[in-house]
Parts: sequence; C-alpha cells; structure tokens
Amino acid sequence: MVVNLPFEPVVVSNEEREKDIDESIKLISELEELAKVHPKKGAVRKFTNSIDGTSIPVNSWKFNEWDYSSKKLTLPTYARGLFTIDNRIVCRGYDKFYNVNEFNEVSEEVLSKSTTGPYTLTVKSNGCIVFISGLKDGTLVVCSKHSTGVRDDVQKNHAMAAQQALELQLDRCHMTKLDLAETLYKLGLTAVAEYCDDNFEEHVLEYKDDRAGLYLHGLNFNSPKFRTYPMEEVNSFGSVFGFKRTKFRRFDTFREAMIFLSKAAATGSFEGEEVEGFVVRCYKTGTHNDFFFKFKFEEPYLLYRELREVTKQFIQGGPQNVHFGKHKLICMDYLKYIMPFLHDNEKLRQSYLDNKGIVELRKKYFDARGQTGLEVIDEEVSMAKLEDEMRLLKFGSSQTCKYAIVTVATIGCGKTTTSLALANLYPDLVGHIQNDNISRPVGSKLVSGALEILVNKPMVILDKNNHKYVERQKIFDDFAQLNEIIPSSKLKFICLNFLPMPPKGDTELWKVTRDRIIERGDNHQSIKAGGSGIGKAEKIMQGFINRFQPVKPRKEPDSKFDLIINLNAKSDNSTFENIKTVVESLVSFASDLDIPRPTEEQYQEAFRKALDYKPSINKIVHSRVGPRTPVYFGTSILDPQSLQERIEDLVGGSSELYEKLKATGRIMSEFHVTMIHYKSKKKSQEIKALWNRYVKSEFAEDLLKIDEQSSKITGQRILLPSKSKADIKLEKFCCNSKVACIKVSVDRIYRADGTDISLGLGNKFPHITIGTINEEIRPAESNNLLNEIYEFNATDGIQCLDFKDSEENSLKGLPIFAHY
Ligand code: GDP
Ligand code: MG
Repeated sequence: MVVNLPFEPVVVSNEEREKDIDESIKLISELEELAKVHPKKGAVRKFTNSIDGTSIPVNSWKFNEWDYSSKKLTLPTYARGLFTIDNRIVCRGYDKFYNVNEFNEVSEEVLSKSTTGPYTLTVKSNGCIVFISGLKDGTLVVCSKHSTGVRDDVQKNHAMAAQQALELQLDRCHMTKLDLAETLYKLGLTAVAEYCDDNFEEHVLEYKDDRAGLYLHGLNFNSPKFRTYPMEEVNSFGSVFGFKRTKFRRFDTFREAMIFLSKAAATGSFEGEEVEGFVVRCYKTGTHNDFFFKFKFEEPYLLYRELREVTKQFIQGGPQNVHFGKHKLICMDYLKYIMPFLHDNEKLRQSYLDNKGIVELRKKYFDARGQTGLEVIDEEVSMAKLEDEMRLLKFGSSQTCKYAIVTVATIGCGKTTTSLALANLYPDLVGHIQNDNISRPVGSKLVSGALEILVNKPMVILDKNNHKYVERQKIFDDFAQLNEIIPSSKLKFICLNFLPMPPKGDTELWKVTRDRIIERGDNHQSIKAGGSGIGKAEKIMQGFINRFQPVKPRKEPDSKFDLIINLNAKSDNSTFENIKTVVESLVSFASDLDIPRPTEEQYQEAFRKALDYKPSINKIVHSRVGPRTPVYFGTSILDPQSLQERIEDLVGGSSELYEKLKATGRIMSEFHVTMIHYKSKKKSQEIKALWNRYVKSEFAEDLLKIDEQSSKITGQRILLPSKSKADIKLEKFCCNSKVACIKVSVDRIYRADGTDISLGLGNKFPHITIGTINEEIRPAESNNLLNEIYEFNATDGIQCLDFKDSEENSLKGLPIFAHY
C-alpha cells in the first residue's frame, strides 16, 4: 500500500520511464564491462551481496575515488552509491560533488557562472550516508555507501546498524517497513539519509540522545541521470516516516548564498547549532539539471581533528609521542586539562582509542573554558606562554636543532673524559649518556636514553666505542626507529673521531691508552685493570683495536654524519686539546645555539673535574638475563622490484604522490610489513600479552639463537633462524599528499615445516609503507592515513585503489625477521 503523502509526487511519464529503463540497461552493461578490467584506471569495482532477510543478490558499483574528478576520463555514471538488481537501479546516490574551491571547476568564480539558482543550502549532517529503497515485492533495501545486508568481512556494518535504527523509527510513527518500501518503489525513489549516532560511531559533531537518528536529506529518482526532489518535499516525506529534518535556507543568487555561507563559517553554526558546513543544491546553467556542491567549514573541525589525534598519540606513547599541528597551543592547553582524566582511567583511554568518548572529552574542556571552539581559536595567539610550560612537561619540540654527538674510538682514548668536560662546561646544553652505564641487554637503550636527554637539552653525547660500521649504523637506525619528536631535518649527527688513523699496530697509541687504563685501575664500570690484573683488560683493549673500522666520511653509515670532528688520542694530555677542538667546532657548526666560548680557566677546571670522575656503577659483563629483545618483528617483501610493478599496474600514473616519490627517489629501498612493534605494548593489555608471546614463546628460541650467533651484531634485521614465514595479500593502495602505503592482510604465519603459528598482529592496519614525501614525514604516518580511511571513512585528498584479489597480489612465503 502506498502511503498518502502530504505533497503531490512528481509524475513520471511512461515515455520517461521507458527511457530510464533503456538507459539503465545500457549503463549496467557498461559497468559490467568496466568491472572486468578492474583495478585499472577508470574501472569499476563490483560487489555483490544479498539484501537482508532475502537471497536476492544486489550489485554495488564503486569507482576509484580519484577517477570521479579526472579530466581524462568520462565515467558512465557519477553516482556515488549505485545499487542494481539485474537491469534495474534499486538505489541511486547523488552525483559526486565537491567542496567549493577544491579545484578550478568548483572555484567560486567558475560556479558563479556555471550554476543558476535558486540555491538551496542544506545543513550538512555528519555521519554515514544511507540509501533506502523498496522492491516490487515490498522488500525494504537499506544500503550504506557501498554495501547492504549481512557481511562477515567487516567489523562494523553501517547498513545493518542504520536498518535497525530505521525499524525503530518506523515503529515510533506507526509505519511499517512495507509501507516505506512500497511507497519508495511506487515512486521510483531512493531516500538518502545520514545516520548519525555516537553510540554507533562518533564523527566530528555530537549526536546523542534526541539528536541521534536518521536525517533524511534527499529523494533521488532511480534513474541513470541524476534527478532529485526539492527540500520541502524531502522534509515532508521524512516527517511521514519519522526521519529527522534537514534544515535549509534558500537564496536566489549565487552572491547571496556565498555571503550567507561566509557569515555562517565565522560562527561555525546555524540556528544556534554547530554544523560542519552546507550542501548547496542548484542547477547547471541553461538546464534543469540538478547540481550540487558543498561548503565545508574549516574551523573548528580542523581543531577538533587535531584534538582527537593528539589525545590518541598521548594515550599511546605519552607526552613525547605527541606531534602538534596547526593548533599547537590549544592542543597543549587541552592536553594539560585532560591529562588528569586520562591518567588513572584505563577504560577511558581504551575506549578513546576505540573512537568512543572523543566528543565528550573535548566538550569537557570547552565547557571548562566557557568558550566554543571558534572562540578559543581566536584566542590562540595569546596562549604563547603555555609553550614553555609544556616544554617543561616534555611536550613537543623546540625550534632549534638537536645534536647527537657520537664518539668513535677504542678503550682509553678519553671519550668519557671529553664528554664529562663538555657536560661540565655546558650543563644546560650538553647531556651525556655512557654505554658503560647501561644495563644489559643494551638493545636500543643508548639511543632511547639519548632521545630522552634531547627533550630537555639540545645536545647529547653517545659515549661508546662505536668502533665498527654496524655499531654506527645501529645508532642511525635506532634514531630513525625511535625518534618521534624531532623532525629529521632538525636532528644533526656529529662524529667525534678519536682515531682518524687506524689504531692497529700504532705503538704510540697503544702505550698512551694502556698506561691510562692501568692508571685508571678499577675505576671503570666493567674493565678492571686493578684487582684482576692488566692481562684481561689488555685482551679486551686489543680486541677493540683489531676490530676497529675507521671512519669513512664518504661511505655509509659514516656519510650520514653531518659533521666529523677529527681528534687526537695519542699524547699524554691529548684530551685537554680535544675538548677545545670539539668546542670550537660546535660553536661554529651549531650556530643556532649561540654556544659561548669558555675561558682558559673554565677549560682547565672542566678538564680537571673530568679526570677526577669515578663511575658509581659496577657492571659485570656477559651476564645476560635472556636474549635481547628486538624493536619489532616484520616480514620482508623479498622482491621490491616486483612490488613496484604491482603498484604501477594498479596506479598507472593516476597518483600524483606516487609519481613524485618516484621522481625524487623517495620510494623505500626495501619493503616490509611490521607485525608487532615493542612500542605497541602500550596500546593495550592484549597487545602486551601478544608481544610476550612473540618474544617469550613463539620466537623465543630464535631470539636465543640470534643472540648466541651474533650477539655482537647490533644492526638491523635478522631473519629468524627457524625460517618462519608469512603469507600476505595486497589489499588497497592508499595515499594522501604525504605518504603512500599499501594496506595488506597477513593471512597466515607458519613454521618452516608448514605448521601454523597462531599469532595475531600488533598493528590494526597492517601495511607496507611505500614512501613519504619528505624526511619530515615519518613512515609511521601510514598508520594515521589508514586510521583516517578505515575508522573515519575519510576521502578528502585521499586516493584509494583496490588491488584485485588475485594470485599475483598474494605474496607467499615471506621470511619473518626481528629488527634490533
Ligand atoms: P674512554 O675509555 O675512552 O672513555 O677513556 P676515559 O675518558 O675513561 O679515559 C681513560 C683514563 O684516562 C681515565 O682514567 C681518564 O681520567 C684518563 N685520561 C683521559 N684523558 C686524559 C688526558 O688527556 N690526560 C691524562 N693524564 N689522563 C687522561
Ligand atoms: Mg669511557
């Protein structure tokens, strides 16, 4: 039964109806053809599922997001959201529309000419889109952007959640699914609504209690050509079936509409409520063709997103993990306020990471300030003093560079004495971390300790022999791996090269350093030339000399040093001269720090104090409790060339970023999928337990073996001796303007004999980072991108292309490695 409507429905003539049918047949056959060439440019992806409660198969058609705006392509349809059964369109979304000024065709200037009024400005609701329609037999069809019905391959089923909400809503206004389905079927329409409910999924605006529900914003004809009802009818249709209203305003001219929109942008609200922006409905000039564009308010939504991101970073890695963006000061002020709430509330932290309670926490802060987001943004400039306060709390980074000073020497060259003297001279500038003070296993503790020092001081000396390339390499790697605060352009590496000439066979050097060690006696953490006699100490010293690999400024890893200071360790009081040499070099190299030159007396005093130093730590070497723990486990993509081919087959020149990465040599030289990182332990108890399973049970023996065979090798990746492997599948190429990556699934982890290892992953969105636009952007940015895509359905400025589910996109037998 068709429900009586409070308006006169548009009567579609038989002629028009037939035309629609013919065009639909043509469109669907074109789509079928294009689906075959997926995933090429301009191809369409077909997804088939059955309507809930039936076995009726329905096809959903989805183009690559990027192709809608491509000038080189003409797509057979621009409908975003298109569902068909056989040769009939069942649900039809709006034609893809864009934000004002997103590109030239939608610039204000062009739009003012290419469109005509009246301009209907509808409030843009902020949830997920839902398409509703009916079949001939009275079945109600509820679809999300690209899917309908029950699925077992998704965590959240938007279509099913919206359908439940719809059923409740129909009950409340004494309507049935059949009423709605038959009415829509009879009129040949799709009802387009926004499902907004924080209990299901939080977006940027708050929708709870009364505000939660389905906001009807369109009635589209199920025809290939985009035709849609005026807003008055949409709202009266909505009121019959219990939908929430979509507020709107109408203006005759483009100018009036734009004036209204800019004014609304200044307050970020409409009729007293926060809104994200407006969708403007008008016509293509010279036609009656419906045409849409949108006007999204930048603020306070950019701020809200940043607040959400810094909160997540803070929960996951503490203050030092927080990266600030545009609204650094407000974010600092906000973090200061919310820290106590998060501090003892594990549940709050967990649910926040699960995208629950984001709005509430933000509101708490704005309520406490008694201001709205936009008001706070206006005041941001006056928050400058906060920055110092937050730096004390270890937030963020300063403007000046940070300097990691790495010693290269053998025992007795005066590394520690030089470092101590420098730290004495510049207590506020120079920190000092001694490898000899670090408990075993050392792992990456030297670098993580150095990074901690760099939070408060601009320089740190990493006091260790670093006598081999791998040791130097490990320092660079550890910094790359662990540093999350200092932009890489702001992190400089300086080498204190105590041995510009090879030490082997150098009797002069041997005499000076040996004498010093004898003199030092037991005054060292581990090398005791006193009680146990010089013999053992001599052996250790000789070992370092024999293994020494001199600094080669033009070769990796030494070419990574921004400055190499050559020193001399061969004369009796060489250290005194070395200290002066280092200071002179630092004064001129680190000019951003305005390092003062000490007086002769200050030099002497600092040197004397350093000579008097006695270590307080006593350490017995070679008494390790269990093997060293790696930084992360990963699987190696063995053939980077072929991966690049896969990408290029798929992307085919359509990705601006990928082309840029290629042109600038910023495609990673090797690819991997991180399976679990030791840092992700912090995320939850489950991941912590999972990490323990990796290191303490599944791969414990591997780690022991690695340690036995190569306890000296402290570099990079080591394949697991057990030859465990993983199979992965390439799923989606994703990129924005900063990072390109591939979302993958890790399908199986198994031993050399083929038996399964049931281990999960510590990463929600396993991926291969392909490259980042510049050094400032860390590969970890892939996580943020995938989070935006998968958790928030973000599409703006994002390109996603699906890999075909095929043999060649399944990479099998990839070796698992541990990265130290
Ligand atoms: P490291 O093994 O490279 O860290 O060497 P240290 O800095 O510990 O120096 C070894 C020993 O030599 C220590 O007892 C220092 O006090 C001493 N030492 C270092 N440099 C000099 C120097 O220029 N003159 C003198 N007389 N002793 C030095
Ligand atoms: Mg030392």
